[in-house]
Amino acid sequence: MNPSKPNILIIYTGGTIGMIEDASTGTLRPFDFDHLIENVPKINKLGYDISHRQFAEPIDSSDMDPHYWEMIAECITENYTDYDGFVVLHGTDTMAYTASALSFMLGNLHKPVIITGSQLPIGEVRTDGEENLITALQIAAAKDPATGEPMIQEVAILFENYLWRGNRSTKMSADNFNAFKSNNYPPLAKIGLGIHFNHEALWRSPSRRPLDLRKHLDPSVVVVDLFPGITESTLRHLLNTPGVKGVVLKTYGAGNAPTSEWFYKLMSEAVERGIVILNITQCANGGVNSRYYAGDRLSRAGVISGHDMTCEAAVTKMMHLFGMGLPSAEVAKYLSCSLIGEITV
Ligand code: ASP
Repeated sequence: MNPSKPNILIIYTGGTIGMIEDASTGTLRPFDFDHLIENVPKINKLGYDISHRQFAEPIDSSDMDPHYWEMIAECITENYTDYDGFVVLHGTDTMAYTASALSFMLGNLHKPVIITGSQLPIGEVRTDGEENLITALQIAAAKDPATGEPMIQEVAILFENYLWRGNRSTKMSADNFNAFKSNNYPPLAKIGLGIHFNHEALWRSPSRRPLDLRKHLDPSVVVVDLFPGITESTLRHLLNTPGVKGVVLKTYGAGNAPTSEWFYKLMSEAVERGIVILNITQCANGGVNSRYYAGDRLSRAGVISGHDMTCEAAVTKMMHLFGMGLPSAEVAKYLSCSLIGEITV
């Protein structure tokens, strides 16, 4: 290793960026990482020291789960002191969940963890994968000229023209190259002719303590998406799912739900049983407030406000808090606070 060169670790998990077409079926399937480097000889022009690790079996990110998140977080932790930054190559479908989960799992992070992927396989002529990978590497290597510290000290998603806070991001398009957005938080950087960092938006951990891996996640969580016509028996069934400890309730507009008595009763009974219910909005922009009777009634039933959190952040934050072994009251308390910039309070 040359100490004057940025030293970056790429962690390849799978996804379109590393896929090829299976000639016999015409479908895309994952291939070996070495093939990816062969396809991007430009990487060598960066002049970085780059190493890689990869999943034994690269996956389509539809198969992503807490066990894989633990593997990625452990890989970053084990290599943390040896590298300046980390680039995680990942499928786009669940990328925002992975970015959110890692942001909670990697406590006191002071180095960049940049997640990227692509809409077209890297081997295709019009691929977006090549640019995304190269820009992600450059961001992972970027230092703040004022302090000499890493410019990015958080988990972020780089896609096409923007760098987004990981736990604020959502996949917005199944086919646009600008596939991600954080609807309630500004971009961390805009990518055009240059990479323009938005200094005010960058996360800086208040603690100087060493990286703290919080790898246990408890998936005893369910997402309930309201719709007009949802019945009492459906909702009762969902709230009584065996083993469930937390519910992410996706409500209308500014956090509103049916005002009927049965709805209120089901919510308050679940809260009394110790189930933590978190209210987030179904809308892409904005968040929950108790402006209307329909929303205020939910908070009276003991439902917690998730303010402007994304569903991806809400689900993984619950898994993280329950995974820490916290009792329901503590989980409820932390859910509406900002742990790592995931919520505007
Ligand atoms: N299904 C793929 C995945 O998420 C899509 C992609 O990579 O964009 O792994």
